[in-house]
Amino acid sequence: MSNKIYDVNLQDGVAVITVDAPPVNTITAAVRSGLEAALDEVEKLSGVKAIVLACKGSTFFSGADIGEFSGPPKEAEYRHLFARLENQNVPVVAALFGTSLGGGYEITLACHYRIANARTRIGFPEVNLGIIPGAGGTQRLPRLIGAEKALEMIVSTKMVDAKTALEYGAIDRIADGDVNAAAVEYARELVAAGKGPRRTSEMNVAPETATPEIFAAAEATAKKLYPNRIAAQTAVKSIRTATEKPLNEGLLVEEKLGNESKLTPESKGAIHVFFAERATRKVTDIPADTKPRAIAKAGIVGAGTMGGGIAICFANAGIPVTVLDTSDEALKRGLGVLEGTYDSMVKRGRLSPEDKAKRMGLIKGTTNYADLSEADVIIEAVFENMELKKKIFAELDKVAKPGCVLATNTSTLDVEKIGAATKRPQDVIGLHFFSPANVMPLLEIVRTPQSSAETIRTSVELAKPLKKTPVLVKICYGFVGNRMMEPYGREAERMVMEGATPREVDTPMEKWGMAMGLLAVYDMAGVDIGINVHKANADQYPIDPTYYQAEVALGEHGRYGQKSGKGFYKYEKGDRKRYDDPEAIAIIRKRASELQIPQVPHTEEEVVERCLYPLINEGFKILEEGIVMRAADIDVVWTSGYGFPRWRGGPMHYAEAIGLKKVLDGMNKYKDRFGPMHWEPSKLLVELATSGKTIAQWEKARG
Ligand code: NAD
Repeated sequence: MSNKIYDVNLQDGVAVITVDAPPVNTITAAVRSGLEAALDEVEKLSGVKAIVLACKGSTFFSGADIGEFSGPPKEAEYRHLFARLENQNVPVVAALFGTSLGGGYEITLACHYRIANARTRIGFPEVNLGIIPGAGGTQRLPRLIGAEKALEMIVSTKMVDAKTALEYGAIDRIADGDVNAAAVEYARELVAAGKGPRRTSEMNVAPETATPEIFAAAEATAKKLYPNRIAAQTAVKSIRTATEKPLNEGLLVEEKLGNESKLTPESKGAIHVFFAERATRKVTDIPADTKPRAIAKAGIVGAGTMGGGIAICFANAGIPVTVLDTSDEALKRGLGVLEGTYDSMVKRGRLSPEDKAKRMGLIKGTTNYADLSEADVIIEAVFENMELKKKIFAELDKVAKPGCVLATNTSTLDVEKIGAATKRPQDVIGLHFFSPANVMPLLEIVRTPQSSAETIRTSVELAKPLKKTPVLVKICYGFVGNRMMEPYGREAERMVMEGATPREVDTPMEKWGMAMGLLAVYDMAGVDIGINVHKANADQYPIDPTYYQAEVALGEHGRYGQKSGKGFYKYEKGDRKRYDDPEAIAIIRKRASELQIPQVPHTEEEVVERCLYPLINEGFKILEEGIVMRAADIDVVWTSGYGFPRWRGGPMHYAEAIGLKKVLDGMNKYKDRFGPMHWEPSKLLVELATSGKTIAQWEKARG
């Protein structure tokens, strides 16, 4: 193929249009104009009896270009191209493989026949982005597969595999082997059988799939799955249009609803996070030409919860990793847990036994530091203890090869002080994984004043094979995520001390959109973890005798959360549910009375404000201190590591969405009630809220 984005090749009466737009054949403006040009070429050829639409590379069209969402609407361009495909007067066959989402599959609905290889997956993720399928999906899909299945696919956003797609009628055939060759064969068969174009636009939605009951059920599901959000309901409305109007009119309704949905807070929030995640790799203050070092081998010190999870990340990436612990026994235990994680993946059909064996083959255990001498990166994940970590870094300094990145997974300790135990502080950095490390996408990368540009670049790039979202931060207590969690947890616990039940604090936050209420999170992680962190770092917190006292009181009664069957809630064996527990409430009330904390009622609104405003306020302090490069990085930390709803855009985006003045007024309201110790607004929040400047304007002026 030339350097054109497409190629047209006439194979014995079948005109094959092949698009090659790496990495994933996104339907960008260039791809659309390439396809228009390809159709120009095809229309000039003589003897064309059928057309095949195919792609080269790793997947058929993966989807529309989300980069265009913030620009002018592109629906008219899509409509023109798709109508042109659909109106061809010879059969048009789409050859699917890989993963086709949204626009990537909608283009096939404008073709006449669809063939896919067995591993193909299709789906409509739009409502997760606060929008609706806007390239004909809500109009053509119900015509092709019926409204009921179209509603299910679009509202659930779940991908379906080729087998299910065939059952639904979303594809016509599954190909063995090379799907592009099979599509040409299929086109020839159609021609031989005298089959002409089969246009989706000329089909009617099967009435039995579009009854009022079916639509009512879809609406109910949309409301239930997405409380506080409307995109899914808008999609249902748009699909209903397909049952009422001809395609051309329906497409205009879809466009109107689609453009309205792009203006909703949920779409702005989700799309903000989408771009924020893609921007975190940009490091603004190191030379642009800094090259990352190659990472071919890794080492880990500590085969515990985190060390094991991190080892899995490396093995999954195909990078051999050596794990060191103090004794064979500790290694056996740690590697056993690690293997158990793989076993459960095999059991759930998420990993083949062969792949498990391959990955386990990349993981070696050792008790000897010399075995880490070939590693390009070594991550320390031993107990949270400064002296121990310093000792280990001094050991690593002796054995690690020059240029090896020496990283610590500490959650609270000063990475610079740990690095000072070596003679190469330029190679030292924090790589803060979250638990479970093989699942959670967030990776906070903690640079010290000495970390070299190369160490930083290498660490940021390492996130890619490990499938992590990196956020580069500077040293401060708790870094970004845990530091902002601190005032959130303080208020959550304080409110239960003021008489709210744990559920009365957790439920409003879950309704608001948090993946899980914080007190339930504490129970899951272990109430003792919080107690120990607060005890070990008492000097970091304000002197407040009521500070985090609910957990202390629970801990005194052996209530450590799920692992002990009771914490803020109680738990029953074999069941993941949490139950209200009068005993926990009594323990907390007793402590509250000893501390003379007045008992007051709490509205849901107050719960949400008292949890979120101090969290946001801390975010502003982090921004003003220059701990992060961009406010959007804070949003990524919270959406990828702390269950903050993506459609709310992360705490900083959310603050602007509701208005910084509102946040500031909220802070001041509680400052009047509780005093300044915990409620002093950050200077930056005050500055922006009173001047009316946006965060983006402030960032631009700061440079
Ligand atoms: P863990 O107790 O599960 O594991 C620690 C491991 O280190 C154990 O296997 C222990 O045998 C080993 N170890 C202790 N001393 C050692 C030494 N001298 N040499 C080699 N190995 C030694 O702890 P964890 O939960 O995995 O935490 C490890 C680190 O990660 C801590 O710094 C912690 O703050 C941090 N962290 C933990 C979490 C979490 O949720 N657990 C999340 C982020 C960061």
